[in-house]
Amino acid sequence: WSGHHLLLFGADFWCEKNMSDKDKRTVFISGASRGIGAAIAKDLARSGYDIWLNYRSSTGQAKKVKKEIEAFGRTCTLLPFDVSDETAVNENMEPLLRDQVPYGLIHNAGITRDTLLPLMRRDEWDSVIDVHLNSFFILARLFSKVMLSRREGRIISIASLSGETGQAGQVNYSAAKAGLIGASKALARELGKRNILVNVVSPGLIETEMIEKLPLDTILPLIPLGRVGRVEEVSGVVRFLLSEEAGYITGQVFSVNGGMYM
Ligand code: NDP
Repeated sequence: WSGHHLLLFGADFWCEKNMSDKDKRTVFISGASRGIGAAIAKDLARSGYDIWLNYRSSTGQAKKVKKEIEAFGRTCTLLPFDVSDETAVNENMEPLLRDQVPYGLIHNAGITRDTLLPLMRRDEWDSVIDVHLNSFFILARLFSKVMLSRREGRIISIASLSGETGQAGQVNYSAAKAGLIGASKALARELGKRNILVNVVSPGLIETEMIEKLPLDTILPLIPLGRVGRVEEVSGVVRFLLSEEAGYITGQVFSVNGGMYM
């Protein structure tokens, strides 16, 4: 413990620099070519942030989002790579991070491989844990190192109702999302004294391609608000968590689920 303590609060072997205004207005978002990530990217661009936009394969969609961001007068750097591939992350990010430290890391990339556990293949378990949780380790470790030198930053992960309640058919996904919540709380404790805030936004059912195959007729009666959520209702919470006014909030989970779980 004393070694960790020294690293975080004692020896400053990362040279300290203040965040520039440009740094303060830049965020990295994983999985932002479509769905919730794309909505977060556009919402933040409209609010004055430049965007580092990661995605894996939807190049056409990512280019469309980039255009919309540029229409708001902001810059958008497209970063196509698999966020669970540590070598790819480091190769792409390290040169950028040498020049600039973004204020925000938003880890949103996600996949589902739903099936009941007795039928689940090992690769269906591994790929879901990789994209959600192992990529949090890769990204949060990389970004927190550079944020530490600036004594400023925000790390926000998109979890899920399934990670709070557990969901049948989603043992892999529920484990990954619950893992994100635990990891974020622990990291919030590690980084708090350096003014790096770590929080989680936990959506219920949000209208994106991810929920296209779900039997909504049977699910809607379970939602007090009686409807699925809109992507903007998630991005608004992320925008708030990046704001000055959210400066005393860390280690928290913000549920955006229409009251489905309270
Ligand atoms: P979508 O399927 O609409 O979009 C997923 C995004 O993640 C795409 O941009 C995709 O890029 C990207 N992505 C997937 N795998 C990787 C990877 N290995 N590396 C980089 N990017 C990747 O999902 P949603 O927008 O619905 O979901 C976004 C997040 O919100 C996820 O973490 C999801 O678990 C969570 N969530 C969603 C809910 C919902 O109801 N929609 C509810 C609760 C949580 P590409 O297309 O290029 O592969």
